[in-house]
Amino acid sequence: MAFYDWNHDGKKDFADDYLEYNIYKESTKNSGSTGSSGGFLGKLFIVFIVFYIFIYLFGDLFELERPCMAIGCMEERSGSSIYCIEHRREYE
Ligand SMILES: [Zn+2]
Repeated sequence: MAFYDWNHDGKKDFADDYLEYNIYKESTKNSGSTGSSGGFLGKLFIVFIVFYIFIYLFGDLFELERPCMAIGCMEERSGSSIYCIEHRREYE
């Protein structure tokens, strides 16, 4: 039960308990001893966005480093094609 009648209704009931819990939560957040879960998720979201932009900008470079898309073929891709010179003639 609450230690103080926070809403001043003359009772120390569950409503005061709830208010006390929120005040406690706020005070612990402001002390900065532990990072709040909201802050952690925010950082995670930023990391995700940065990662997504990175892949978006450099995805084409990674694409070129992959071998030919033809099954079992490990030849280098020909220019902007997803196949090697030999398979490019065959599939495109
Ligand atoms: Zn090939």
